[in-house]
Amino acid sequence: MPKTAFISTAIPYVNARPHIGHALEYVQTDAMARYLRLTGTDCFFLTGSDENSLKNVRAAEEEGVPTQELCDRYTQVFMELLESLNLSNSDFIRTSSDLHIRGAQELWRRCRPEDIYKQHYSGWYCVGCEDFYTEQDFPDKICPDHGTPLELVEEENYFFKLSNYQDALLKLIESGELRIVPATKRNEILSFIKGGLRDFSISRSRKRAGDWGISVPGDDDQVMYVWYDALANYVTALDLSEGSERFRDYWLECPKRIHVIGKGINRFHTVYWPAMLLSAGLPVPTEVFVHGYLTINGQKISKSLGNVIDPIDQVNQFGIDPVRYYLLRAISPTEDGDYSESRFQEVYNADLANNLGNLARRVETIGAKAGHVVRDAPVGDAPEGYHEAMADYRFNDALATLWSLASHLNQRIEEVKPWELAKRGKTDDLAEFLDEMILGLRRIGYWLEPFLPGTAAKLSALFTPGETIERGDPLFPRLG
Ligand SMILES: [Zn+2]
Repeated sequence: MPKTAFISTAIPYVNARPHIGHALEYVQTDAMARYLRLTGTDCFFLTGSDENSLKNVRAAEEEGVPTQELCDRYTQVFMELLESLNLSNSDFIRTSSDLHIRGAQELWRRCRPEDIYKQHYSGWYCVGCEDFYTEQDFPDKICPDHGTPLELVEEENYFFKLSNYQDALLKLIESGELRIVPATKRNEILSFIKGGLRDFSISRSRKRAGDWGISVPGDDDQVMYVWYDALANYVTALDLSEGSERFRDYWLECPKRIHVIGKGINRFHTVYWPAMLLSAGLPVPTEVFVHGYLTINGQKISKSLGNVIDPIDQVNQFGIDPVRYYLLRAISPTEDGDYSESRFQEVYNADLANNLGNLARRVETIGAKAGHVVRDAPVGDAPEGYHEAMADYRFNDALATLWSLASHLNQRIEEVKPWELAKRGKTDDLAEFLDEMILGLRRIGYWLEPFLPGTAAKLSALFTPGETIERGDPLFPRLG
């Protein structure tokens, strides 16, 4: 059996249409999943929707529709986005599904009894963050991320004894058993843990939850805190019931368990979640990759600024692979990055139309004119630095290795001037040169698959061994 891997995106709240930031995380995760498969790993790629959130309840109230109806509607749009980005996800878990509800309750039951206790609680809650704060955190009681007032909540809740896991978590992260990429995010978490871990609330009253959410096993008056419920999705999708092969192959006995997340939810994935798993006697993630946020034309993405870019529109306008390329190449994988249409056009024309697109076009044209038959030869390994970049989630650097190969091939055309070889009747030299160019393009196409699967397929069809080259449509027509 081949090696297995598990990789997931975070599951978004489905209270609105997706924005371009969602597309970034989807495409990054897809590139890694496809890369793992390309290099011989059987990779299970999970994504889904977070439906049991108070945010969804409030959004439904505002629209005057039942919460489930709102979740159904936006889940559908998120699924459309996955398809329009050509994502290769293996499954889609909805936290309103029976499989998830059963699994989340099973996970709760498996936690050590001494880790869960009931206690009277009062705290300041931000619905936007779905998180509690203390008065010391924000003395003016306004959430700085959402700009909304915090709500005072007083009730009896179940708590998780996170403090029991302080040493175990430190050891996991310091030893690299739980690897956090990039190192800056790892260091942030290490100092957070060293600052002392507070137990956290893992339930709320059914009433305050708007009668929405998963019942706490054995206590119908309480529903699970949305984060406890949402984090559980990574294992509930694999089916926690007795004898599940999926769960065995892609979690219990799986050597690579990867979560891809945005920087705002690092703590949930590298502190709360591993502690929950330890308590339930289950293996913890082996890698958490933390990406930055996207701005639009230099501004924070926000509905009130009216600058929300719809990724489905972008794909319809420019094509799947150009959007994937921009997100993976022009955006730093770990720092905040900017999405602007002017930069998009620049990158598209320079890299896609003028470099790779033009290269394929030239080789195709000369090859078709010469009636050249594509020679069968192994494409070879990726250019130097490609695998090292992927090991660190540096998608942009991995792509750069392929683009410097394309630049080199374009340069060879300028040097050798194959059209002159054709004019002077040097058919053997021309054939040899075309073989070199085609092999280079096939090699680029092969290793490009994780990033631009559509382009990889087109290159492979253009230059199929044993077939005579024919001219097709340009890969990337120039914009503007
Ligand atoms: Zn907030």
